[in-house]
Amino acid sequence: MTVSPSSLLKTDLSQSPSLARLQDLASNLWWSWTPQARQVFEALDQTLWRHTQHNPIKQLQEVKPERLAKLENDIVFVRHYTAALKAFDEYLAATDHWFGRHYPHLVNSPIAYFSAEFGLHNSVPIYSGGLGILAGDHLKEASDLGIPLVGVSFMYSQSYFRQIVGPDGWQEAVYESFNLEESPIQPALTPSGTPCRIQVELGARPIVCRVWQIRVGRILLFLLDTNVPENTPADRTLSGRLYGGDLTTRLAQEILLGIGGVRVLRALEIHPRMWHANEGHAAFLNLERIREMVQQGISFEEALEAVRQSSHFTTHTPVPAGHDVFPVSLIDQHFSGYWEQMGLTREGFYNLGKHPNDSTDQFHMTPLAIRLSGSINGVSLEHGHVSRRMWHCFWPEFPEERVPIHSITNGIHVPTWIASEMAHLYCKYLGANWLNESDDTALWHRILDIPDQELWEVHQYLKRKLLSFVRQRIQSGWMEGRLQAHQVIAGGALLEPYALTIGFGRRFATYKRANLLFHNPDRLRKLLHNRWQPVQFIFAGKAHPADEPGQRLIQEVYHFAKNPEFGGHITFLENYDMHVAKFLVQGVDVWLNNPRPPLEASGTSGQKAALNGIPNLSVLDGWWKEGYDGANGWALPLGPEGLDDQAKDDHDAEALYRILEQEVVPLFYTRDPDGIPHGWVTIVKNAIRTNAPRFSARRMLKEYAERFYVTGSSVEESGRTLEQAS
Ligand SMILES: *Cc1c(COP(=O)(O)O)cnc(C)c1O
Repeated sequence: MTVSPSSLLKTDLSQSPSLARLQDLASNLWWSWTPQARQVFEALDQTLWRHTQHNPIKQLQEVKPERLAKLENDIVFVRHYTAALKAFDEYLAATDHWFGRHYPHLVNSPIAYFSAEFGLHNSVPIYSGGLGILAGDHLKEASDLGIPLVGVSFMYSQSYFRQIVGPDGWQEAVYESFNLEESPIQPALTPSGTPCRIQVELGARPIVCRVWQIRVGRILLFLLDTNVPENTPADRTLSGRLYGGDLTTRLAQEILLGIGGVRVLRALEIHPRMWHANEGHAAFLNLERIREMVQQGISFEEALEAVRQSSHFTTHTPVPAGHDVFPVSLIDQHFSGYWEQMGLTREGFYNLGKHPNDSTDQFHMTPLAIRLSGSINGVSLEHGHVSRRMWHCFWPEFPEERVPIHSITNGIHVPTWIASEMAHLYCKYLGANWLNESDDTALWHRILDIPDQELWEVHQYLKRKLLSFVRQRIQSGWMEGRLQAHQVIAGGALLEPYALTIGFGRRFATYKRANLLFHNPDRLRKLLHNRWQPVQFIFAGKAHPADEPGQRLIQEVYHFAKNPEFGGHITFLENYDMHVAKFLVQGVDVWLNNPRPPLEASGTSGQKAALNGIPNLSVLDGWWKEGYDGANGWALPLGPEGLDDQAKDDHDAEALYRILEQEVVPLFYTRDPDGIPHGWVTIVKNAIRTNAPRFSARRMLKEYAERFYVTGSSVEESGRTLEQAS
């Protein structure tokens, strides 16, 4: 199948020419974080808006011509539409953004950002969890700040799975094909106007990739796709599933992403001055850059040096087993013939992927990335420490604290994660320009000016919105005949708006300990059933389909959720994704996080909650270790050193119950004569004031730019500029 650029755009706006540019608005994800644009699509057809789960491309395909004809004459709609378009055009044309003001000489020098997944919006299902969402927030914030990034990733032909939980609590993974026509995705074109295609060899086997692009504000994200007729049926599915398949598939995907990704940018004549690998999956990109230089006659050593000076690497994994490792036999199959082109022997090549403390025949992606990158960072202060300890073996001559691995703590893209009702409040009390200054800590002191009652009422509204979202979900499952009665209860039918509602939403990996709360069921039951001070919990999250223990955790939570003894106060909400996450992090009262320390590199969902006035109750790990100040939420204190896992769990569960019983619940229910829990609202305000600016993607991106992006020496300055590329 060849796809011409326009054939994907199935919408027909020709009958309503004055609204034709709705297509432009829908084709750039800028709309997704811009209320003004979002409101246009909401007003276009409210039912369709909900029905399509906020997907304007699909909405424009399904909207009736009569509706459009009517809107053409609707003065209010046309005014909103025109204003949104004007803002859109101004956004794209602006040059006075942060990066342009500070680094005008670098605005046309792209930075390539490679990631195996990007979480941008539910209509682009190429993410599984935190890593992808971080990458998506990275692109959006880079766009807002004017940082000239280009993204590189995969077009997975199947979206990451939809989760269904069966009557026995067992997770079912349903894979659905990614419908390109319902997504803001288009073929990427080379400068000569032809669809971009590249080829990568897996050993002797050539693989052809076509290339798609998505517009993310000012930024282009390019996606490799092996589903073309030139490839064998098996190879056509190589880019089929995110983190699906065996080691061989995974290696093939990483080769395609790294080596293929470089070839994509070359074919598009985009010449980055810096290359940023988000996690080790993308590290092969630097092999390809060395190979190119060696082919041009430069020695391997010189090429390595040049590549290092223009490469940055972010590591995300404090768990040793979380780093990709491939057996040498597999690498042989895929790279023999390649190392000669890099000016290396087989041994020299293997040395690049050697772990200093591993004498077995394995090729390690993180050590490869460390050797090929000039600068490296972990994703929180604590994760920086953990990473320096973990990789000290590379620099044995240095004391641990001098190991050159830095840290930049993760942050979230504020416009994406803020509830619009909270945004109104911030606009009113922090000033109309608050979003542009969202990393300014002084600005956020004005949170204290918000009357408690006003803040409390907005939160009550968001909580009701969450509960009605939960009810709608189970109602449709029930009507479809998919749910049995006990599943309707487990899904949240008995949740009540009055009760203290605690949210837990994240991947069900065992170290995240979703079952910690159930350590002592009797104590939990007392907490839930206190008649005057009831507590309820909403759990959500997927386990990787290959992760049996993770799936057993879901089953365990589900078992409690459907048990009548717990009275419907424990809920498991199916299919955690960005859409569900938004409702949760905007609508619960407390955000719970209890991973086994120090295994959480950063975590970001708690940052989303804090931004929306939801205090964290969390283990002192990852970002919370820097975010907690004693008055902006609650911390589970770390147990003594040297405990085994069982003892750590005992310790942490005890602390969790104690904090809930003695601090969280009584404070929440301490109402003043006006009905407002002023003590509670004080914590809420502290959470917003102290966490929102520091854990914003704006602060994070400025750090990446100032510390790493603008410093690397420019080895490849010439080339096509970004404007030409789009
Ligand atoms: C934010 C987010 C995550 C990351 O959550 P952690 O706190 O890092 O575990 C995962 N999945 C979704 C859908 C999210 O929105």
